[in-house]
Amino acid sequence: MSVGISLQAMHAQCMTSSTPRTDVVSLIQHPRSQVLVIGGGINGAATFRELALQGVDVTLIERGDYISGSSAASSHMIHGGIRYLENGEFRLVREAVQERNRLLKTAPHYVKPLQTTIPIFSLFSGIAAAPLRFLTHKQSSTTERGALLIKVGLALYDSFSRDGGSVPRHEFHGRRKSLAHQPALNPDLKYTATYYDAVMVHPERLGLDVLLDGVAAGGRAANYVEAVGAVDGGVLVRDLVTGDEFVLSADVVVNTSGPWTDLTNGALGAPTTFMGGTKGSHIVVDNPELLAATKGRELFLENADGRVVLVCPIKGRVLIGTTDVDADPRDPMIETDEDTDYFFKLVSRVFPGVALDRSQIVFTYAGIRPLPRHDDEAPGFVSRDYRIEKSNFGGSPLLSLVGGKWTTFRALGEHMTNDVLAILKRARTASTTTLSIGGGVGFPTTEPTRNDWIQSHAVGVSRSRVAELLTRYGTRATEFIAAIIEGNDVALRTAPNYTTTELDHLVRTESVVHLIDVLLRRTDLAFIGAVTGPMIDELATIVGGSLGWTSEQCAAEIVATREILTTMHGQAFTEQAAVAG
Ligand SMILES: Cc1cc2nc3c(=O)[nH]c(=O)nc-3n(C[C@H](O)[C@H](O)[C@H](O)COP(=O)(O)OP(=O)(O)OC[C@H]3O[C@@H](n4cnc5c(N)ncnc54)[C@H](O)[C@@H]3O)c2cc1C
Repeated sequence: MSVGISLQAMHAQCMTSSTPRTDVVSLIQHPRSQVLVIGGGINGAATFRELALQGVDVTLIERGDYISGSSAASSHMIHGGIRYLENGEFRLVREAVQERNRLLKTAPHYVKPLQTTIPIFSLFSGIAAAPLRFLTHKQSSTTERGALLIKVGLALYDSFSRDGGSVPRHEFHGRRKSLAHQPALNPDLKYTATYYDAVMVHPERLGLDVLLDGVAAGGRAANYVEAVGAVDGGVLVRDLVTGDEFVLSADVVVNTSGPWTDLTNGALGAPTTFMGGTKGSHIVVDNPELLAATKGRELFLENADGRVVLVCPIKGRVLIGTTDVDADPRDPMIETDEDTDYFFKLVSRVFPGVALDRSQIVFTYAGIRPLPRHDDEAPGFVSRDYRIEKSNFGGSPLLSLVGGKWTTFRALGEHMTNDVLAILKRARTASTTTLSIGGGVGFPTTEPTRNDWIQSHAVGVSRSRVAELLTRYGTRATEFIAAIIEGNDVALRTAPNYTTTELDHLVRTESVVHLIDVLLRRTDLAFIGAVTGPMIDELATIVGGSLGWTSEQCAAEIVATREILTTMHGQAFTEQAAVAG
């Protein structure tokens, strides 16, 4: 039966008033839980999932959208962090490569293997200072890393990383072979080193899958709800959509608010000084020449001052980042012209023949790393490992996460959960080490199994559409296919790869609150630079129809979305109804 979700019907719905959020209603109806997690970045989501899977009664609140803080600012790498070896962070590197290898199996819909190449311009640089860094974790005035240092690091990385032989060893090539494979590289280079890591093709969707697993296991979560204070041993929270306040209490409070951990503890009346974040920026460029020059590999480029920039081909664009400077988490994080100059300079040193132009930048973003307080230590050399600090809040234990990368989110969730279970005196009942995440369950990873999957699901929906949904949502595509078969599906005028029913299903099932959530996080439309003025209008009508916005709300969402995209993400979208998707 068709439910007939046409654009006209949605527009009519958009004129009605909005309905209460069921996620928030559920929180109000259950003001007490065993565990309250504050912060819905990847580490909060991972902790929430892990606790819910143990049958713990857990609630999570996030003051923005899920995966919109640090977790939305990453370089998209799932990596062991070869660079951390020279800081002596062996525990972290070992855990990170283990987690990388696991994620390639448990989340193959969003985590893909990626070859990484380091162009090397000298044999010896950095060698003299390396032992100093190794032993003291202090930055010296050293220059870039030379071939010998990189070779030693990669041999060590291989020893941690090979997953019983399934991950190939690194390769080291001289100038001639390196240029034969990547002719656009600077001919002055002496060697290239190539090793294997992994890339997240859509971190925000991966994080959402982690969170939705937790909800499916019985956890309660709501976005746009902020912890703002303490009342009688409970946490005072505010629904940022309505302004309503209510109190949530728990036997254990977990603070996973990333770079804002101290600020959250301060708001709870339990001040701490754990954090010392650093800012990092990225740009996304639409430059086919640069894309071709990468040959599908990530390039790990080193500046003369030892800082590292990544150049990564992704979704037909090239992601370039990042910077590393001390920052205040209260400030807005915006990529600057100076950052762009720095990126362009480094890329043109490595690919001197590739012309880069500011007009090719289709998206920019910046964020703050949740690093530990580091006083005089230089940002690039601050420990990337995490720790869990224990204190008290209103008579209940308060566990605060300090640090924590994307790559290690599952392991962190496991450690945090072990600490919580010990406090609750409960035994662990489930393991996540090999448990597939969201649309990674049963995801076909070879060409023949992918073709079979598409063939068997292309009933009432075209094969090409099934293929697209499988790429976008993993095997959660089945939900979307069912909705599309039920609905009156119409391709979007401004983004024909998306359809009305698909977006309606996404909005209704993925806690969308604002239009910007769809453009920045549920889809990659902003990331690839596809957004146009008419697209914002068309999407507002569809999202507003699904959420029951009034026409005034639709108009306000359009204004807010334009403002965020231009001021925070360097977008200068056309007002033409150019199609993209
Ligand atoms: C530039 C950059 C590049 C990076 N690249 C990589 C990479 O390639 N690979 C990798 O593994 N890691 C990378 N990282 C690190 C990684 O992104 C972060 O360490 C990780 O995402 C932290 O996740 P989190 O959940 O701890 O914090 P966050 O994602 O910041 O989540 C914390 C959440 O808490 C919420 N919050 C704050 N206060 C409150 C409150 N009072 N009430 C409710 N909610 C609140 C915030 O809104 C936020 O969403 C990078 C980080 C940066 C900044």
